[in-house]
Amino acid sequence: MPGPVVGVLALQGAVGLHSHALTRLGVEHLEVRNARDLAAVDALIFPGGESTAMSKLLTINALFEPVAARLEAGMPAFGTCAGMILLAANVIDGRADQRSFGAIDIDVRRNAFGRQIDSFEADLDVIGLPEAPVHAVFIRAPIVERVGPGVEILAAVDNGWPVACRQGNVMVTSFHPELEPDLRMHELFVRQVAA
Ligand code: GLN
Repeated sequence: MPGPVVGVLALQGAVGLHSHALTRLGVEHLEVRNARDLAAVDALIFPGGESTAMSKLLTINALFEPVAARLEAGMPAFGTCAGMILLAANVIDGRADQRSFGAIDIDVRRNAFGRQIDSFEADLDVIGLPEAPVHAVFIRAPIVERVGPGVEILAAVDNGWPVACRQGNVMVTSFHPELEPDLRMHELFVRQVAA
């Protein structure tokens, strides 16, 4: 039986790095730019980039509603940084017209880690990946300010802010696993897709 096809939302942002990670994992994948592409994938990665631009491009490309419908129907999703913002229930400090899918019950504040420092790195203990910490790169990252009761916190930074969360088959990170050679976060997601 063929394995699942994992889509990478390819409207803006770090698309190629996610595709590259999936290639390295030997997972079939497709860059998703329209509703036809979307229909061909079993799961979707929402990359880092600029969530306001992605929100706008999803609307312009008539892709917001089809993606929302797939998420509603239970499509597995993985959002990194801006992708996390797009999947969140509520976005604080967003643009007034910015939309999000509400696929995971968290509230995020845009650019919140970036007030003092634009980017930083940390070694994280991630639930499900006990072998070694995951090295995480944060770039103008959102802070998760509220986590709903159905949401599992997979990792947090030292001062307690959650930076990786999962609810059902929707996983989000405020960092960028696609920037690192360590593919375990992608693997964790793909394992969920195949389950
Ligand atoms: N600050 C960006 C946003 O609000 C996210 C940054 C990123 O994806 N690296 O969309």
